[in-house]
Amino acid sequence: MSSIPQPIKNPEIKYTQIFINNEYVNSASGKVFPTINPSTGKKICDVQEGDKADVDKAVAAAKEAFKFGSEWRRMDASRRGKILFKLADLMERDLVYLASLDTLDNGKPYKSALGDIMFSIHVIRYYAGWADKVHGKTIPVDGNYFCYTRHEPVGVCGQIIPWNYPLLMFSWKIAPALALGNVVVVKPAEQTPLSAIYAASLCKEAGFPPGVVNVVPGYGPTAGAAISGHPDVNKVAFTGSTEIGQLIMQASGASNLKRITLELGGKSPNVIFADADIDIAVEQAHEAVMTNMGQCCVAGSRTFVQEDIYDEFVKKSVERAKKRTVGDPWDLSSEQGPQVDEEQFNKILNYIKIGQEEGAKLECGGQRKGDEGYFIEPTVFSCVTDSMKIAKEEIFGPVQQLIKFKDINEVIERANDTFYGLGAAIFTNDINKAMMFTQAVKAGTVWVNCYNAVNVQSPFGGFKMSGIGRELGEYGLQQYSEVKNVVIKIPQKNS
Ligand code: NAD
Repeated sequence: MSSIPQPIKNPEIKYTQIFINNEYVNSASGKVFPTINPSTGKKICDVQEGDKADVDKAVAAAKEAFKFGSEWRRMDASRRGKILFKLADLMERDLVYLASLDTLDNGKPYKSALGDIMFSIHVIRYYAGWADKVHGKTIPVDGNYFCYTRHEPVGVCGQIIPWNYPLLMFSWKIAPALALGNVVVVKPAEQTPLSAIYAASLCKEAGFPPGVVNVVPGYGPTAGAAISGHPDVNKVAFTGSTEIGQLIMQASGASNLKRITLELGGKSPNVIFADADIDIAVEQAHEAVMTNMGQCCVAGSRTFVQEDIYDEFVKKSVERAKKRTVGDPWDLSSEQGPQVDEEQFNKILNYIKIGQEEGAKLECGGQRKGDEGYFIEPTVFSCVTDSMKIAKEEIFGPVQQLIKFKDINEVIERANDTFYGLGAAIFTNDINKAMMFTQAVKAGTVWVNCYNAVNVQSPFGGFKMSGIGRELGEYGLQQYSEVKNVVIKIPQKNS
C-alpha cells in the first residue's frame, strides 16, 4: 500500500472546454453541461457542450491537418511514434492527477483509476512502437508490372467513447489511429469528460500538430450523432451499448459508408466445473462480475456452476460478496465505489427488483448503500434460470447471477444462447473440457482458469451483437488503414 502514490482528492479542474486545432474554445452555442461527482451526486463543474457546429469545426480542422502535403502527412512514421512515446511520458508525469480526475468524475476507486492510467500509458507505448512497423507488400503479379501495397491512414476518425474507463478508452481509441497517421475527433462520454479534455493538452505538449487530435465533449444524440453522420468523417470507432452501436452503423450507411468498429455490450458466460479449484473460481467469478462496479462490457455476468458444487459455490460467493468493501473511492481499501450516475443506479436497482419478481433468490445485497451518491451493495442471485431477464440482459452493475448446469454439451449450448459474444471463461482442470469449450463458445475472447486478462498485445472485441472489428494488438491496427494496391507498368519483369 505504501508504494501507491497518494491521490489528489480535490484535483483542480484545469480545462473544461472543447479542444480544436490545439486550442481550447467555447461551444458555438454557448451552452454548457454539468459533470457530476457520483460519490456525492453533486456537480463538479460545467463543461462546454459540443454539438453539430462544434463537430463541424473539429472535423474541418482534422481534415486540414490530414490534407495532402500537410505537416502530419509529411512526418516520418518514426516521428509519429516518438510523439506518442512523449505523450505516454507526459501521462506518466501526470499519473496521479489523471487517476484523481477519473476517480472524481467516474467514482472508480483511486487504486483502480491508477491501474487504468498505467494501462493507458502501456497502450500508447505499444502502438508508438508500431508506428514505423506497419507496411505493405510487393506482390508477384502476372504480366510486366511492378505491384505493391501501401497501408495508408483512413483519415478523419471519429472516436466515440463510454464512461466506464474514461482515459483508458481515450487511449485505446487514439493510440492505434495516430500511430498509423490518422487524425481524430474524440467525443468523451457526457458523464466523464474531464480526463480526456485534460489529455488533449498533453497531446499538444507532446507535439501533435494542430488538428491532429480534437476533443469535443457533449451528448450522444447531438455531438455523437453529428460525428457518426458526418460526410467528412472516414471512420468511427465506438464503444458503448449495442443499441447505440446499431445507430452508429445505420448512420454510417446513410451518410458515407464510413468504416466502423464497434465494441458493444455482453452477457458473458463464466463456466465453473466441479473439478476446478473452487476457491480460485469463486474469487475470479466474483471479480469477473463485480470489477469496476460491474460496469464492464466483458463482465462475467452469467456464472454457470456445475450442479455438484452449486450449493457450496453459492455459499462461498455470498461470503465473498459480503466482504467486498464498498465506499469512499479515495480510500485505498475500497474495492467498490458508486455507479457512474443516477440513471445507471436506478436501472440496476430495477433489475434487482425484476430478478426477485422473476423468482431468483436474492442471497445478499440488493439495496442502495448509504444515503449519498450512487452506491449499491454487492448483490448475489442464486436459482437463476436462462429465461430470466437478469440472465439475458446487460445489467452493468454489481449483480452476480449463479446458474446451475449439468454437463459440458448442455452448458456450451446455453452459454451460446445469447445475442452477445464478447467474453467467455471456463474453470476446469480437465484439458479436454477446456479445449471443447474454447472451440465451441462464440466469443471474441475465451479465458481458461482466469478472467479479465486483457492484454495490450492481443485482440479484444466481440462476436455477434457484441461488436465489429477488434481493438488492441496487431489486429487493432488493421482497422486504421486502407490498403492501396499500386500497379506500375515495367518494360520487363525479372524474377
Ligand atoms: P451509450 O452507448 O449510450 O453511450 C456511449 C457513448 O455513445 C457516449 O459517448 C454517448 O454520448 C454516445 N452516444 C449516445 N447516443 C449516441 C448517438 N445517438 N449517436 C452517437 N453517439 C451516441 O451508453 P450509456 O447510455 O452511457 O450506457 C447504457 C448502457 O450501455 C449501459 O448500461 C451498458 O449496458 C452499455 N455500456 C457498454 C459499455 C461498453 O464498454 N461496452 C460502456 C458503457 C455503457
